[in-house]
Amino acid sequence: EKKLKKRKYFLKMIIIGDSGVGKTSLIHRYVSTRFIQEFKPTIGAEFSTKEIEIDGNLVGAQIWDTAGEERYQSLGVSFYRGADCCGIVFDRSNRDSFEKLSQWRKAFISQGAPEDQEEFPFIIIGNKSDLTNEVLIKRSEVEDWCTQYGNYVYIEASAKDNISVEEVFETLMKTGMDRQ
Ligand code: GDP
Ligand code: MG
Repeated sequence: EKKLKKRKYFLKMIIIGDSGVGKTSLIHRYVSTRFIQEFKPTIGAEFSTKEIEIDGNLVGAQIWDTAGEERYQSLGVSFYRGADCCGIVFDRSNRDSFEKLSQWRKAFISQGAPEDQEEFPFIIIGNKSDLTNEVLIKRSEVEDWCTQYGNYVYIEASAKDNISVEEVFETLMKTGMDRQ
């Protein structure tokens, strides 16, 4: 792992995935007390902010969320541009949302045009892990997908029960710091 220089970071973080998988819930769980800013509601996106310390570095993140009608987002998503890190969320009790991971990945790479393109280090988030009796997507299946596309980090989480939510966002932040 690259050694991080101690300094102040400003990161742009994008959270994508199918409607209903829990993107907004995860962000609210993490940011909670912070004011949520509406931004350009016509393109259906908003961001909230969070500042934390990681290994002695001050890290500020602008966390972008899509506001409704996610399925139309791939038509033109200018807010993907300049992202330092991107989390793709699916719902572990919804197979369709898992099968859409590739589409979200592709949309981000083409619309966000990150410099590292195919090497862009996505973080994959399996949300709703609290629904133990309804979980359809096993860790091994997601890890196979991650290996196929780029050795992405996979984290199982629950916005509802606050499982691994901090880990999700800190991993995203560290990934963004590494790319700056
Ligand atoms: P978004 O469309 O991806 O932003 O999803 P939302 O955050 O609006 O959540 C969609 C629905 O799933 C809401 O009814 C949430 O209460 C619910 N939800 C979100 N996260 C979880 C979770 O971790 N566990 C469970 N059981 N429900 C969740
Ligand atoms: Mg939402």
